[in-house]
Amino acid sequence: MSDERMPLGVFTSVGEGLGAGIERVLDLGVRTVQVHTPKPELRTPEYAREIAQKFEDAGISVTLVFCGFPGESYASIAVVRDTVGLVPYVQRGERVRHARQIADFASWMGAPGIGIHVGFISENWESPEFAEITRVLGDLADYCSDLGLCINLETGQESADTLQHVLETVDRDNLGVNFDPANMILYGSGEPLDALRQVGPYVRSCHCKDAVWSAAPGEEWGEEVPLGQGDVNIEEFVSILNGLGYTGPLTIEREVSGARQIEDIKAGIELLRDIKANLGIA
Ligand code: MG
Repeated sequence: MSDERMPLGVFTSVGEGLGAGIERVLDLGVRTVQVHTPKPELRTPEYAREIAQKFEDAGISVTLVFCGFPGESYASIAVVRDTVGLVPYVQRGERVRHARQIADFASWMGAPGIGIHVGFISENWESPEFAEITRVLGDLADYCSDLGLCINLETGQESADTLQHVLETVDRDNLGVNFDPANMILYGSGEPLDALRQVGPYVRSCHCKDAVWSAAPGEEWGEEVPLGQGDVNIEEFVSILNGLGYTGPLTIEREVSGARQIEDIKAGIELLRDIKANLGIA
């Protein structure tokens, strides 16, 4: 990566999946990406090297490989609770195996780490569920550490207090946070900027995404909106990151598809460039 502080980036995909697509990244003029994991059959050393070479040839740094698991659904908050991440008990063993494969893939690509939605971690810190999920995360962090990788937990599905307690309980140097401020609003899990100040020292990567609160936070989704048009206060978000000494990428995530996604990402890039200039970040 260049020496630029907080280089702009986008969330994209390789093979099939979510995101802006590798060809479009160049058009957007950004030079960092987080990539969603390819499907399991593509997670081979050969494919990893092929993809890594394409990004390298394009002058693009891959800053994180994001986990996704078969059977996950984001249809509603209740469905997320039942289906997403490592929390659902029946799928846990299989998903840990997938997460390790994704870590292998990230290391074959030469990426620095993986990102993951753990799911709805119990807010009862004395519960067996909390103890077990922190043990599982510790094991996965150790697996990543052996590969020289970081593992960053996506925010949103738990309160900042619980996220902080997870980080302190697992207590691994390579375990950090991928801070997505919009998710805190979408899931109704707390004021994002307060949460950022709280877990700030653990933030290793982020998603620049915006959202407006629902009328029933925590029960119904808030609405994701183009960057700068929601309740996050993106300028303050970047300013707090800057104050924390964060120098990593500002990775735009826009979870709509097609031409609208590209237009919104372009506008987001312009907005972040202006914010960085206003804050004297270069
Ligand atoms: Mg996100």
